Amino acid sequence: MSDGGGDAPFIGHGLRRSGIPFVLSSPSGAGKTTIARALINHDSNLIMSVSATTRPPRPGEEPGRDYHFMSADEFDRVVAEDGFLERAEVFGNRYGTPRAPVEAALADGRDVLFDVDWQGARQLRQSGITTPVTVFILPPTRVELERRLRARAQDPVAVVEARMAKAAAEMSHYREYDYIVVNRNLEASVAVIQSIITAERHRLHHLADLAGFIGRVSGAAG
Ligand code: 5GP
Repeated sequence: MSDGGGDAPFIGHGLRRSGIPFVLSSPSGAGKTTIARALINHDSNLIMSVSATTRPPRPGEEPGRDYHFMSADEFDRVVAEDGFLERAEVFGNRYGTPRAPVEAALADGRDVLFDVDWQGARQLRQSGITTPVTVFILPPTRVELERRLRARAQDPVAVVEARMAKAAAEMSHYREYDYIVVNRNLEASVAVIQSIITAERHRLHHLADLAGFIGRVSGAAG
């Protein structure tokens, strides 16, 4: 897998690009978190938006890397300060996207990856940031989805069943997304999403001060 950050080459040539928000959503168990990690690890211009949540950490999760774990009171305080770009309740827990790091990264021309549900995707579209590019990841089969959920032994059985029931509801929102990726194979899915990211970085409306660049290249200006 190549370093997609190499797609910022325009910058060295005096062509600026605005940061692009990329949203990954899926029913839980489709492999989204693993895909997100692989994308971040291989792309120096892509950073992860770390959400806040009121749910307790799972074994292996690190505060600040996987989530900012918060009490309900702390979460309320951030809400009161308008510190979240979007927020939603999922499985009885609250989740929110901290506003400041996202706005700073996008202003700096860095692309930001969000792991949020369909409610988050919808709210990010209305949040005032650059319109996000949205990708929906699907499990290849129902049997595989169930297998992946059960393999997450950390979740109590009742939670697995609730997540299975919610998967259908989450998937019903597929029409709200720009791209659909069926995750049969991790490497292949990561490659597809890297291609999407690369293509979006070359979209006309994501390139800032293009007129100035063209002017310099064509000799018409400075
Ligand atoms: P989990 O508890 O399994 O990490 O996440 C449960 C669900 O919450 C996932 O679908 C995930 O995408 C979603 N989620 C995580 N962080 C956020 C967030 O900041 N906002 C929204 N709207 N959903 C989130």
